[in-house]
Amino acid sequence: MAKKRSRSSIVKQLDSMFSKFIRQRDSDNELCTCSTCGVKKPIKEMQAGHFMSRSKYSTRWDEENVHAQCQGCNMWQQGRQYEMSIYIDQNYYVGKAEELLRKSNRTTKFSDAELLEMIKHYKELLK
Ligand SMILES: [Zn+2]
Repeated sequence: MAKKRSRSSIVKQLDSMFSKFIRQRDSDNELCTCSTCGVKKPIKEMQAGHFMSRSKYSTRWDEENVHAQCQGCNMWQQGRQYEMSIYIDQNYYVGKAEELLRKSNRTTKFSDAELLEMIKHYKELLK
């Protein structure tokens, strides 16, 4: 029997695939645009910024909750959450940011199998 993978290694791999997917989605010709200040930088220098924090599992891998961000906005300005909410409402529809806030407060438990399925999904998309 194959050795069971630890939960933390699965989460770590999914976070990394998901981040790659978000940055690729939010880029054009390898140039990624920051959702909160508009700066354009190569994909490798950008990060995937969460509107509702990563500690909230129900929105941790929600594609509408995560957008490309430069390091300045994501790390040094606490993710500029207010600007991110404006970006989200403009990008989807008015009220979307509030919806994500409510969703983030719900409890969602993903099984290891579900997380592995998501890893497979993003791997496929990144090909
Ligand atoms: Zn920025």
